[in-house]
Amino acid sequence: MIRENILEVENKIQAACIRSGRARSEITLIAVSKTMPVDSILEAIHVGLTDFGENRVQELCDKIECIREPLSWHMIGHLQRNKVKYIVGKTTLIHSVDSIRLVEEIEQEAAKKAICCDILLEVNMALENTKFGLLPEDVLSFVRKLSNFSHLRLKGLMTVAPYTKNSEENRIIFRKMRQLSVDIAEKNIDNINMDFLSMGMTGDYEVAIEEGATHIRVGTGIFGSR
Ligand SMILES: *Cc1c(COP(=O)(O)O)cnc(C)c1O
Repeated sequence: MIRENILEVENKIQAACIRSGRARSEITLIAVSKTMPVDSILEAIHVGLTDFGENRVQELCDKIECIREPLSWHMIGHLQRNKVKYIVGKTTLIHSVDSIRLVEEIEQEAAKKAICCDILLEVNMALENTKFGLLPEDVLSFVRKLSNFSHLRLKGLMTVAPYTKNSEENRIIFRKMRQLSVDIAEKNIDNINMDFLSMGMTGDYEVAIEEGATHIRVGTGIFGSR
């Protein structure tokens, strides 16, 4: 099933790219493998996937340890400061940064390891009070503070849109995300880059691509329900 699912997702990505005049190469498909066994990940690797997303530090580390292939691992879940040391240096991208204290911890850990850590800022664009993430109006001032950290590199923004049966309902959220990232990019702030826009999950990744997503995070659509 995983193979068929991936092919179906791939077809839908390509169709969304064509509809919106984008190149397929602009979009990274992240297979969200949380709660899924290593065998399922191996199957996805076999079909050609290279980017995987996890939301828990322990599970992420276990899977990296277990799967020896060179893959790109994405941390997409809420990250506690005391867990930062376990993942800095192992992830391609941390999507879920939403506090200065977390930024400071990542900076410190990356400095210790003499590396540069790529991050995204999580934005609570839907203004859901249950969610993590910065409020949209706070993002610019937050971004300005990041210029001074030399061991991390801001690559863009991420959001988790509300769960909905009608993906069109999230179009406005994705559009606002894109606009926010364009507005910030135009400020030309040192060490700040807004190339990445991580948005869209199983229920709404096609709409997200139409609205400018560069990274889509698909779990259920690839591995089935958790
Ligand atoms: C679980 C998760 C996903 C994937 O959700 P699906 O609806 O299964 O595609 C994407 N992003 C985040 C942050 C998640 O926690």
